[in-house]
Amino acid sequence: MSRVLVIGCGGVANVAIRKCCALSEVFTELMIASRTKEKCDVLAEELRKTSKTKIETAKVDADSKDELVKLINSYKPDLVMNIALPYQDLTIMDACLECHVNYMDTANYEPEDTDDPEWRKIYEKRCKEEGFSAYFDYSWQWAYKKKFEDAGLIALLGSGFDPGVTQAYVAYAKKHEFDTIDTIDILDCNGGDHGYKFATNFNPEVNLREVSAPGSYWEDGHWVEVPAMSIKREYDFDQVGMKDMYLLHHEEIESIAKNLPEVKRIRFFMTFGQSYLDHMRCLEDVGMLSTTPIMFEGKEIVPIKFLKALLPDPASLGPRTHGKTNIGCIFTGKKDGKDKTYYIYNVCDHQECYKEVKSQAISYTTGVPAMCGALMLLTGKWNTPGVHTIEELDPDPFIEALDKYGLPKTESHNPVLVK
Ligand code: NDP
Repeated sequence: MSRVLVIGCGGVANVAIRKCCALSEVFTELMIASRTKEKCDVLAEELRKTSKTKIETAKVDADSKDELVKLINSYKPDLVMNIALPYQDLTIMDACLECHVNYMDTANYEPEDTDDPEWRKIYEKRCKEEGFSAYFDYSWQWAYKKKFEDAGLIALLGSGFDPGVTQAYVAYAKKHEFDTIDTIDILDCNGGDHGYKFATNFNPEVNLREVSAPGSYWEDGHWVEVPAMSIKREYDFDQVGMKDMYLLHHEEIESIAKNLPEVKRIRFFMTFGQSYLDHMRCLEDVGMLSTTPIMFEGKEIVPIKFLKALLPDPASLGPRTHGKTNIGCIFTGKKDGKDKTYYIYNVCDHQECYKEVKSQAISYTTGVPAMCGALMLLTGKWNTPGVHTIEELDPDPFIEALDKYGLPKTESHNPVLVK
């Protein structure tokens, strides 16, 4: 028996909610609340026909702590699943603390307004001290650690695929395969084709900010930052084939480096096609990726938000995307004094996902771990109060749930390494 409040009803939330409602013996009651209530109502109406879960809907502006507190106090959930945008992480965490309820999300905090002088002061200090310049970092949410501990509550951060499953793979490798891990390469390959020259597979604003930022990796106890897309490798992915991939900064590198200080190097690579990169560079060059408002015909507009309105809605890519994703981690390290390599990954088929939950594999590979993370909290498999990223927690029940609910792992003990 549980009562869960899901905030957001976009691409990822749609998958997570469908998966929760397919497991109605655990997710007995669920409220979908978002900025646009109509989207919640459409999904709820569809799911009520097949699921035993008791589904309600509500309108909420998750930028307003007061609105959130009112909603949480009236619904009284056991868990709040934040599947809105990273901009809302802190207000939702504040509301959860005030209402004494557990929290989880799929991406770490970043501010919507990167020109806010208060935020910028802290950001610029962090860039200098830490050596990476991404807009997002864990410090904002880690600052809640003591508050959640003292309240006896859990905040689970980043329960998607990457971050999320990739960190469970790290914990799994450490628990079952290695005495010490020396290097980790996280490889995120999307071999899907949606037929558009340019579209993003999840929220365009969040996606384009991430991809156009400088790349960075962790080496020998510090960050090394490089210009965006300046490190390129080729890799032959199982069931996808040969792809170009580029080194990016990614949030889980930060938490893995903190929680597994023995690891000498951590890198993250993502595949991109040439058409995507050409369009992105061009859009960046003309200022369309800017988050700074400009005046246009007497009205203030934010270029990247305007671009979002022009691009295909990621939710609409489902029926037209063919091919597979392959996401996982390659490790080098030692077991019983001997050198060892290990690769653990998942392959997911866009069309199979669409048949099951009416979504492409990017939302699927994020929404399923969100449901599995909630399952760990609701069934008490993960129950240590505090603010946690997934490599801190026992990977076994989570990976077992992923195997069972749609994202089975594949392992290799002789992988080709990335140079
Ligand atoms: P979408 O843009 O499709 O959906 C976002 C949802 O949040 C929409 O329903 C939107 O409402 C709602 N929302 C936005 N602002 C507010 C607000 N102020 N109050 C209430 N609701 C709001 O995003 P995605 O589903 O693609 O992504 C969801 C999250 O998943 C993001 O945080 C993203 O970074 C993360 N993600 C994580 C991945 C991982 O592997 N860990 C991979 C991919 C995504 P409306 O309909 O009105 O716009």
